[in-house]
Amino acid sequence: MGLNRRAALGAMATGAAAMAGVQTAKANDAKILPQNKMVAMLYDTTLCIGCKACVSACSEANGLTPDTGESGGIYQMPKYLNDKTKNIIKLYVDEKTGLRSYVKAQCMHCIDPACVAACPMAALQKNPVNGVVTWDGTTCLGCRYCQIACPFNIPKFEWTEFNPKIVKCQFCDHRMAEGKGPACCEVCPREAVIYGTREELLKVARKRIADNPGKYFEDRIYGEEEAGGTQVLYLTHVEPQLLGHLVPLGKRSIPEEVESVQNTLYMGFLSPIIAYAALTSVLKKRWQEHEQEAKHIEEQTGLKEQL
Ligand code: SF4
Ligand code: SF4
Ligand code: SF4
Repeated sequence: MGLNRRAALGAMATGAAAMAGVQTAKANDAKILPQNKMVAMLYDTTLCIGCKACVSACSEANGLTPDTGESGGIYQMPKYLNDKTKNIIKLYVDEKTGLRSYVKAQCMHCIDPACVAACPMAALQKNPVNGVVTWDGTTCLGCRYCQIACPFNIPKFEWTEFNPKIVKCQFCDHRMAEGKGPACCEVCPREAVIYGTREELLKVARKRIADNPGKYFEDRIYGEEEAGGTQVLYLTHVEPQLLGHLVPLGKRSIPEEVESVQNTLYMGFLSPIIAYAALTSVLKKRWQEHEQEAKHIEEQTGLKEQL
């Protein structure tokens, strides 16, 4: 399957960084991390009741200011992931059939992350021990390449801050360092989101599929292979792409896609400087498109939010 539009933008951001001569994290070392070492999460739409306990727990555990803007300051009510929100529950409703589903969104902790490959300052890193993708503010330039590179539209930027940060789920790494689990998983009353190793959770997901014929969409585990595989996995009863960020992606990671494009350019004897200039000019235009698209997504998803 080819790249979708967001993935194509991501490939460009990743490619531009690569062509600028900065170090990229292509075919990350963590790619060879054994499945039983990767920390993972499994979310099951059929178990989630949309209570949003995980949203509040995430906010509290990460010391975020609750986003109460939409409720006039009364209670936490983010429309989508934003600079105060690392985890969100959205409601999808098919107006014709009445089919509905909750969906949880946070960083997917990609096995070969485009954000890491695109970052020219190595501010985004993949933990070599457990594969978690984290951001470190000490080297971040604020270029936002990671935002454009991410095929799932996850990293957010603190526009209103003097010293802005990139905000995204870090898999509660500070809690894991204390021997605790991710707050969202620990608080869920339905075990709709659980954590473990990727190996364990793939087994759990396959067993649920085998035990419940016809329950899950195409007996598929989203994230098993998409974009080279992610450490956050989904079992859904509706088509994943209807749920917002679970976009259709091929089996190759974005950095792998970029490498293939670069190889093609070199094979065509196109100078890397010319290729970089071309990519940068297109990127500038796409950057504006990206802003409009992000705004549109937030408006659209906000309409579907259940309060
Ligand atoms: S989902 Fe986006 S931000 Fe998270 S690891 Fe993947 S590319 Fe990076
Ligand atoms: S792992 Fe932690 S930071 Fe990530 S969504 Fe869950 S509670 Fe939030
Ligand atoms: S706490 Fe569990 S059941 Fe409640 S919204 Fe979050 S994932 Fe769904």
